Amino acid sequence: TAAIAALRDGHLVGLPTETVYGLAANALNAVAVARIFEAKKRPHFDPLIVHIGNRSDVDLVAREVPPVAEVFMNAFWPGPLTLVLPKQPAIPDLVTSGLDSVAIRMPQHPVALELLQALDFPLAAPSANPFGYVSPTTRQHVLDQLANEVALVLEGGSCSVGVESTILSFSEGQPMVLRLGGISLEALEAVHGRPIPTQLSSSQPHAPGQLASHYAPARAIRLVAHGEECPAPGAPFLRFYQKEQPEWSLSADGTTGSAATRLFGVLRSLDEEPDGPEVWIEKAPEAGLGRAINDRLLRAAHRA
Ligand code: AMP
Ligand code: MG
Repeated sequence: TAAIAALRDGHLVGLPTETVYGLAANALNAVAVARIFEAKKRPHFDPLIVHIGNRSDVDLVAREVPPVAEVFMNAFWPGPLTLVLPKQPAIPDLVTSGLDSVAIRMPQHPVALELLQALDFPLAAPSANPFGYVSPTTRQHVLDQLANEVALVLEGGSCSVGVESTILSFSEGQPMVLRLGGISLEALEAVHGRPIPTQLSSSQPHAPGQLASHYAPARAIRLVAHGEECPAPGAPFLRFYQKEQPEWSLSADGTTGSAATRLFGVLRSLDEEPDGPEVWIEKAPEAGLGRAINDRLLRAAHRA
């Protein structure tokens, strides 16, 4: 297909995954990877996630897979879980921002999997949006901002998960969550059989997904705790869920899964009126995917 040829030639391709749309390049080609950073205006200190289509491809990317990491692969791949592992020398330093570790994931989306399995190299792919802006969850979102940067954008429908992958690192054999995402902390802990610590602070130099302001629309946003009323009478107020007014609800059915799927599309639609009055948004319950949603809402609402 055209996508395979473009990627072989070092060009960028918009890639649907179950989390968000990615901006993909050959992860083994430093020139192609450099184009990702240029297209997104992404700082070079922000490492990329490498995507693979087969479990056996892990060894091309990671030098070593600790047994504890294999347990998580078996449980959650393909799916929205990224593992940080020791890097193979074949992965260019640009991909990992010079770190000796590399972030790896096997996505679940059929279009992404089919493409990855047809290629003889892995794909480096961050979200297909300008750095710091809301991630794309439809093909049109990618075209709206990066049409001139990509050879093509594959069609994959709306992303079913809607928030980025959960990132798990291992130091001294112990898992640690670096970013909340499409696999809940509860699901990870159920597999691990023990609590898993998180390190989500905004002072982490290697992790701009952790910056205080990220996923940020132009429209001003204020947050309201889950279950609370809006303190500004008459202001636009998007609730987590209200049956009577689905158009002013984040979730279509009261679940955090639905809210995650819709979150970035809702934030983008607010920007159709960037100078409109500030919008109040009720946070999700702080459990399951609600944690990842609230993390994105906090960063979306943060003003530098
Ligand atoms: P994304 O922008 O969704 O592609 O996610 C990339 C994020 O993955 C980065 O911002 C980091 O937070 C994280 N990441 C990637 N590689 C590493 C690594 N080697 N060590 C720690 N975190 C990483
Ligand atoms: Mg991103």
